[in-house]
Amino acid sequence: MPRGAADLAVRTAPTHEDLLALPAEEAFAELGRRHRRREPLAFRRGGRAGRTHLVRVQGGQPLCRAKLAEAGPQELAVTGPLTCPACSRVVARAIHRTSGRRARRVTPSKV
Ligand SMILES: [Zn+2]
Repeated sequence: MPRGAADLAVRTAPTHEDLLALPAEEAFAELGRRHRRREPLAFRRGGRAGRTHLVRVQGGQPLCRAKLAEAGPQELAVTGPLTCPACSRVVARAIHRTSGRRARRVTPSKV
């Protein structure tokens, strides 16, 4: 497995079962934070391939370009794992971006 893919698996495979102990709204908000998003997120199965996407709680639409039907609240879950590769890429990019920014801040730039 190439390094990027292994990294991605580590970042997206957690099922976040510890969040089940929280009230739903807090759990969704925390899930959003874990994926470097300011909005609450949830997992949702759907689309043609029946993959699990990461969706915005508001509106129930996935982070990827898949178009899902309107979600009922019972379709939103706080535990994964995420199985949509496109959603995983969006998440990995966001994580890469934020950790890159942090690294630059502490690394003196070349003169
Ligand atoms: Zn997706």
